[in-house]
Amino acid sequence: MKLCTNKTECCGCGACVDICHAGAIHMVQDNEGFLYPQIDEKKCTDCGRCGQVCPIINKSRKNGDNLYLGVQIKDEKIRYSSSSGGMFSILAQYVLEKNGVIYGAAYNRDMEVAHIEACDLQQLERIKKTKYVQSNMEGIYCRIQERLKKNQWVLFCGTPCQVYALLLYLKKSYRTLITADLVCYGAASPGIWKSYIKYLEHRHGGEVTEFYFRDKRNKDNGQTCSYVAGGTEYASELGHNIYCKMYFADYILRPACHRCRFCDTNRMSDFTIGDFWNIENVRPKMDDGMGTSMVIVHTDKAKEIWKMVKDKAYWFECERKDILQPRLLAPTCAAKTRRLFMILYRILPFSYFVKMLRGVSVIGRRFRQLWKSRI
Ligand SMILES: Cc1cc2nc3c(=O)[nH]c(=O)nc-3n(C[C@H](O)[C@H](O)[C@H](O)COP(=O)(O)OP(=O)(O)OC[C@H]3O[C@@H](n4cnc5c(N)ncnc54)[C@H](O)[C@@H]3O)c2cc1C
Repeated sequence: MKLCTNKTECCGCGACVDICHAGAIHMVQDNEGFLYPQIDEKKCTDCGRCGQVCPIINKSRKNGDNLYLGVQIKDEKIRYSSSSGGMFSILAQYVLEKNGVIYGAAYNRDMEVAHIEACDLQQLERIKKTKYVQSNMEGIYCRIQERLKKNQWVLFCGTPCQVYALLLYLKKSYRTLITADLVCYGAASPGIWKSYIKYLEHRHGGEVTEFYFRDKRNKDNGQTCSYVAGGTEYASELGHNIYCKMYFADYILRPACHRCRFCDTNRMSDFTIGDFWNIENVRPKMDDGMGTSMVIVHTDKAKEIWKMVKDKAYWFECERKDILQPRLLAPTCAAKTRRLFMILYRILPFSYFVKMLRGVSVIGRRFRQLWKSRI
């Protein structure tokens, strides 16, 4: 099996890089800011291992017979600092108590997003919280395999394509591995994220040291976005932040995300976690604006673990229809003008680009106001 070279068929999980013993594959950034594997034909031995770990070309066997849950971690401090209801932290605590290791996405010093390992609660803080940027997985697959071979407990949390890539990489199942994949809107361009961070640093005259996409200070289920630049904190509505606008207007997602085949309630993982979108209707009394996790428990192993950790949460069981949301049914559609957007991103300095986007939305808003006043 050969690696996909078509951009709409590469999810950028990077498992092919880790599996290549000849060191013939490395990731190269394209002009939209996404990483794609490039094969050095001189080093390639044609062994086909890269194709064997690709989560896009390999057909998946999905776990059914699911349990559907709404979950809020009892520890209010942890729930506040989690993006949803803190289900990830419940699983992480379980693994840390077994002296295990957690793998998840974190910011590095340059505010790039990459998967790291955490062995204690302090390191775990870096992994918590949603980052709407594609995470770099370089070296992670081999490290997890090393840990598992030593019989250590491992929790891996990431996008569904990353989880499936890990399972293909490992080839066999391990008793001590727990996988949790996310309900995923799509992975955004790390290159555009970097341009945005540089833009903020220039604008505020200081380094960006923190960025929180799902701040809950307004008890609005994380509809606030906040960051620290040059030592000062800035916060706004998620919908007013320019980067979030680009993300949720579907301009900056990876092309393969628009064809994602993991938008389903059946997955390869042990657990699927996301936001409980419909909480105000399903359990109105629990909707306090501080976040509720939607959890799908897929495997027998996951059901056993859930029995052991459920006392750490306020929770309820529900039906599949209660947890459904768009990204469990179909992938996000690309914006109609995505191609034009990317051309302008390439040719304009980022600050001009941002001004132009602001202009477009102001014009759009004025137009809508005008239109409303007519009818
Ligand atoms: C790109 C992206 C899109 C999402 N889209 C949706 C959606 O459409 N609907 C929905 O219900 N939920 C979505 N989620 C999931 C949701 O935002 C929460 O991450 C999830 O509910 C877990 O929250 P928590 O309170 O349990 O844990 P938290 O403590 O907030 O932990 C977050 C977990 O997410 C992982 N993570 C964070 N950023 C990334 C990343 N860039 N790549 C891989 N893993 C990451 C971390 O490793 C950590 O394990 C999305 C998450 C991401 C990262």
